[in-house]
Amino acid sequence: MISSDHSKFLVGNYAQPAIEIVRGKGTKVWDSEGKEYLDFTTGIAVTNLGHSHPHWIHSVTDQANEMVHCSNLFSIPEQVRLAKRLVEKIGPGKLIFCNSGAEANEGLLKLARLVGNKQGTQPKHKIVVADNGFHGRTLGALSATASPKYRTGFEPLLPFFDFVPLNDIQAFDKAIDSETSAVLVESIQGEGGIYEAEDHFLQELAAICTARKVLLLLDEVQAGIGRTGEFLGFQKSGILPHAVAMAKGLGGGFPIGAIWIGEQYADTFGAGSHGTTFGGSPLACSAANAVLDVIEEEDLIAKTKRKGEYLKEKLLQFIPKYPALAHEVRGRGLMLALALKLDPSTIVQQLRDSGLLVVGAGGYAIRFLPPLNVQEEEIDHAIHIVDTIFSNFELNEVSS
Ligand SMILES: *Cc1c(COP(=O)(O)O)cnc(C)c1O
Repeated sequence: MISSDHSKFLVGNYAQPAIEIVRGKGTKVWDSEGKEYLDFTTGIAVTNLGHSHPHWIHSVTDQANEMVHCSNLFSIPEQVRLAKRLVEKIGPGKLIFCNSGAEANEGLLKLARLVGNKQGTQPKHKIVVADNGFHGRTLGALSATASPKYRTGFEPLLPFFDFVPLNDIQAFDKAIDSETSAVLVESIQGEGGIYEAEDHFLQELAAICTARKVLLLLDEVQAGIGRTGEFLGFQKSGILPHAVAMAKGLGGGFPIGAIWIGEQYADTFGAGSHGTTFGGSPLACSAANAVLDVIEEEDLIAKTKRKGEYLKEKLLQFIPKYPALAHEVRGRGLMLALALKLDPSTIVQQLRDSGLLVVGAGGYAIRFLPPLNVQEEEIDHAIHIVDTIFSNFELNEVSS
């Protein structure tokens, strides 16, 4: 039961929640009545080390004792260290830190403006984005988001965005013209329902962008930081974009966003051109450095790949077993979706009541986003819960 003060004092921009979560350890969380759940939501791909990882707690506590915030007016050693580590993982370039995914995408859009306004005699303002993508809720990021589900009521939004279907290289080719400054896509569409950008699509898109001097921008806010079995999702295809947005998993639960800008455009933002009060604080960067430590020390990227294959194989078994319910498994690593033939919201509620937290997504999908260090027994347990709910559901609702 949640407090009646919830709806009295909080704006209802989220559907009224059914439970109150108060504590977490590893893959498990507990509500205020002491009920235990397996957390395959991870705050939407955020708590990638699970809850209360000892190394993360240690780093953040130590840093809180030293210095929490001092502003980017000063050099911050934890920030410099984090930037260097991210460059080593992504490619030659530089970093700007911020506080969220939407804010990181705003940075990419502003980079596209600066570059588009500088090129040639004719400024280039158009940005090509994918249908069914999601880039955040701020006005710029929302303008880059196609779905009416997010846009309705907030128009007019920013002009100059072209929406074309993901993986349709002809459509991108056609949309990119002499007024286009940038292309922005997710390597795996998260909110849209776990739809992967295909390797050959990203490779051809990168070639088109290079040939026409158009920025290729990747939104890795959800797919990034090890979740797909690569450090960033696009790395599977072997391309290197001009700039990348990251956030969700980067701080392991502490808010931090980042944009990596490749060498070619790394000095586009001059002094005073962009900034943030909180972004890249000592505390936020110590949290992100702790996440990278654990990913490296516990070999979490390789483990994510293996456990992802294990979970995917189990999910695939539901398709022949429950043909009236399940019809597709999408995604890779530990960014997986089981697509249903009906709106998944009732099933998501039933799974929660049975002790498994998952989150819906577009395309009638149930998303499975466990921590990257999830145990195989925990995957088995989650699969058992899904199996039980599906068999009851098929008996009661589909057959009646
Ligand atoms: C969640 C998400 C965002 C927005 O991030 P916020 O931190 O909620 O602002 C942007 N892009 C993608 C791909 C996301 O999944």
